[in-house]
Amino acid sequence: MAESPIRRNLARGGWERVDAVRYKDDAGDAGGAPFRSITRRVLFDEHDLHCELRYFEIAPGGWSTLERHEHAHAVMILRGQGRCLVGERVHTIREHDLVCVPSKAWHQFRAADDAPLGFLCLVNRDRDRPQLPAESELAALRQIPEVCAFIRTGEDTGETPDA
Ligand code: MN
Repeated sequence: MAESPIRRNLARGGWERVDAVRYKDDAGDAGGAPFRSITRRVLFDEHDLHCELRYFEIAPGGWSTLERHEHAHAVMILRGQGRCLVGERVHTIREHDLVCVPSKAWHQFRAADDAPLGFLCLVNRDRDRPQLPAESELAALRQIPEVCAFIRTGEDTGETPDA
């Protein structure tokens, strides 16, 4: 019997037949990509659409990896609030806001200290590997005061179990 095309949203969070997995799980990313308190769920991995739709959730105080890559992201905030770096600007983000992360733009998402940040992220199925900033690139980003105050780059690496 074919699997149902519907995967119900669960009362405790998440969806039927969708596992929360490590935020970064491939060998290349495991080599020192820093992040804190974030989980990833692949909602759709559709060969015919050539894209994936993922759901990330960052616990209060957590943050995603500061990175960039050739591929772009289309993000919709689904839950909570926080801030994000896109390029050289820091923005506040709230439920249902839309965030465009262009190709090659540095980006990082952070949950508020008192709220989680859950978001959908649409991405190409075939895509290049994220790059971490080199020391010189980090120094350049830190020349911008609001960016310097915002970014987290590894002094606090780790993840917490999905609540
Ligand atoms: Mn990215």
